[in-house]
Amino acid sequence: MPFSLLTSRWGLPPWTIDFTPAVHAIPEKTDVAVIGGGFTGLAAAAWLRLLDPDKSVAVFEAARIGAGASGRTGGIALAETAAGDLPGLGDVLGGFENILEKLDVDCDLSLPGAWEIGRTGALPQSPIEWADSGTLRVVKEVPGGTLDPGKLVSGLARAAEKRGAKIFENAPVTRIRWGARPQIEIPVGGADSRVIEAEKILLATNALSLELTGLGEGAHPRLTLAAMTAPLTEQELHSAGLAARKPFYTSDLPYLWGRVRRDNSIVWGAGLVTATNEKNVAEAHIASAQAAQMFASLEKRVRGLHPAFRSVTFTHRWGGPILFRDDWQPVFDFHPASENAIVLGAYAGHGVALSSYLAAWVAEVLLGKRALPTWGKLAFAGRGGV
Ligand SMILES: Cc1cc2nc3c(=O)[nH]c(=O)nc-3n(C[C@H](O)[C@H](O)[C@H](O)COP(=O)(O)OP(=O)(O)OC[C@H]3O[C@@H](n4cnc5c(N)ncnc54)[C@H](O)[C@@H]3O)c2cc1C
Repeated sequence: MPFSLLTSRWGLPPWTIDFTPAVHAIPEKTDVAVIGGGFTGLAAAAWLRLLDPDKSVAVFEAARIGAGASGRTGGIALAETAAGDLPGLGDVLGGFENILEKLDVDCDLSLPGAWEIGRTGALPQSPIEWADSGTLRVVKEVPGGTLDPGKLVSGLARAAEKRGAKIFENAPVTRIRWGARPQIEIPVGGADSRVIEAEKILLATNALSLELTGLGEGAHPRLTLAAMTAPLTEQELHSAGLAARKPFYTSDLPYLWGRVRRDNSIVWGAGLVTATNEKNVAEAHIASAQAAQMFASLEKRVRGLHPAFRSVTFTHRWGGPILFRDDWQPVFDFHPASENAIVLGAYAGHGVALSSYLAAWVAEVLLGKRALPTWGKLAFAGRGGV
């Protein structure tokens, strides 16, 4: 499945990416090759150049920047990983704000807190009271908020390029030849491919290209679905309990998440589509019978939650790739074939703030300034065989 077809298979999200990288000739060598132009890859490229402007950095993106989860996400910024706090993780939201400031990225980040909502154990004065397989109320407030993912993708790409990283779009890496200096291959038409020698490699391909990252067993890529309503009135938001614009997600099942946008439209999400080939989410389609049924169910649920939503219209329906691991931890480890390559990603539904935060960390590891975390291991039997 050519990556360029992803947009049509996965629908159009409502976010705008308003940055197009400058065109360069593909280099024969680079100090660091970053594979994947989502939040992780772009933030890592910008941070690498910020820390060491002498190192050449090239980002290879199979389609357009933000074509994967980052341009399709809900944009809810959360503090921890999907597995909770982890040893040495530190202050994700504070660190994220610092990275945005240092890279001069404005993405409408607002951190008023986020709500866990559920059917039992409500807070005494829950602003939310919605009908959805019982009554959904606020059960806990956690640190968090929202941002505009299109602005974050654009801002990180702009920051990376401004600091001297080169970003190549429509440049899918199809193979890595492992050796003392790894070489990556990018097809350039017909049977020809361009080979780039890289001192270090960051694999930031998230739920895609699992054959390259060695993320096989215990990793489950899915297409997760989202839909957006037309803007509501301030009064409707108020009566539904959303005047404070705190994003929300259920802590029990059936799952539901959402956030209000600046124009008072609301993004909602629920539903995971499995591709026929479970490991290749690029094949999943939002027009499949499974996805169509999930969108219909999501929209029906939203309209039934509260009278303020009864007659909302939905303007956008889309999906995006997401990667779950059995232990819910992100992967942050050397590639099985070489310690010159690191795999970072698989944040499940917690990647919006965490991706840039861990991207800065991985940049420091690639420059020999910091160690890998004690968690996030790729499960494998031994190095050298991939
Ligand atoms: C619908 C949806 C809603 C979400 N909502 C939230 C939320 O509200 N809060 C939250 O914290 N998280 C959320 N997430 C998760 C979050 O968006 C992701 O964790 C985050 O965007 C991952 O960023 P990334 O850069 O690691 O991966 P991606 O953005 O997926 O980037 C990977 C990139 O690699 C490219 N690529 C793949 N293979 C190759 C190759 N061989 N060669 C070159 N390039 C390649 C892809 O084209 C893609 O652009 C959501 C995800 C989805 C899909």
